[in-house]
Amino acid sequence: MGKPKVAIYWAASCGGCDIAILDIAEKILDLSAAVDIIFWPVAMDVKYKDVEAMEDGEIDLCLFNGSVRTTENEHLAKLLRQKSKVLVAYGSCAHEGCIPGMANQYDKEQMCAYVYENSPAVDNPDKVRPQTTHKVKEGVLTLPALYDTVKSLQQVVKVDYFVPGCPPTDERTWEVLTAVLEGTLPAAGSVVGAGTTALCEDCPRERKEKKVKRFYRPHEIVTDPDVCLLDQGVICCGVVTRTGCGAQCPSVNMPCRGCYGPPEGVTDQGAKLIAVLGSIIDSTDPEEIERVCATVVDPLGTGYRFGLANSILRRSKLR
Ligand code: SF4
Ligand code: SF4
Ligand code: SF4
Repeated sequence: MGKPKVAIYWAASCGGCDIAILDIAEKILDLSAAVDIIFWPVAMDVKYKDVEAMEDGEIDLCLFNGSVRTTENEHLAKLLRQKSKVLVAYGSCAHEGCIPGMANQYDKEQMCAYVYENSPAVDNPDKVRPQTTHKVKEGVLTLPALYDTVKSLQQVVKVDYFVPGCPPTDERTWEVLTAVLEGTLPAAGSVVGAGTTALCEDCPRERKEKKVKRFYRPHEIVTDPDVCLLDQGVICCGVVTRTGCGAQCPSVNMPCRGCYGPPEGVTDQGAKLIAVLGSIIDSTDPEEIERVCATVVDPLGTGYRFGLANSILRRSKLR
């Protein structure tokens, strides 16, 4: 029997998840000794037609990063699903939509109007926009079409495992690869490479669940390094985020932004964060509560930075 065949693909992503796989450093040599990487567009000269020519289920493991926002992303999601025995949503974009999913506050027209016409950095008097087809003397050039709504991978195809994180840490990535190679993966549909409880459990700061008179952005306050950021009024999503990264951000004086997604028992990370923030406001006076709430800058971006596409909101209502 030959070595297991592995595919790695990026859809709508920043590229960070591909780099996260390289972050396993010299273990990449162990990986390449144990498996045949047969498709990895960022690192190899491969073509989509190579995948199309494969037998169904020929790929043993596909790590798919990035969300789905174009016809090309959707085609590859469906193609790699068909050709893979095990399809893994690797990283927050594939898992929950992540930063690309923040585009679900707008539709395609609103985004293109800003990006190609109205952004202060753009000089485009003829209002030229990318087209899906363009004729040149050599033939017709094509570009993928952009969808109105960004989707997570599981909103397009069946996903076998989810590896959270923006990006997943190298230790967790290696754990997952080892589990695949040793055949010790849990039941299909599971989140792997992460814990189930809230990140506060791994955080070195002491949390006393104090009430606060206002909320701060990190640059607005010098915090005590030993005390919970939320207790000091800095919005930290650790209370509504699953363990897995080792509480990297609060350990270096930055609040958790929530990239590992919600812990077990929390359906909607943003809604849960709003409930937590509401519960720690130190006032019963409606006007003062309004003032405290107004110190939460960008509530949607704070609570749904990573999970809007997968959330109960899925996209915000277009006005
Ligand atoms: S999960 Fe984060 S690091 Fe990975 S592709 Fe998406 S934005 Fe980039
Ligand atoms: S700083 Fe954040 S992660 Fe740490 S205990 Fe407070 S809320 Fe939890
Ligand atoms: S602390 Fe939060 S934002 Fe930072 S890496 Fe961990 S889960 Fe992601």
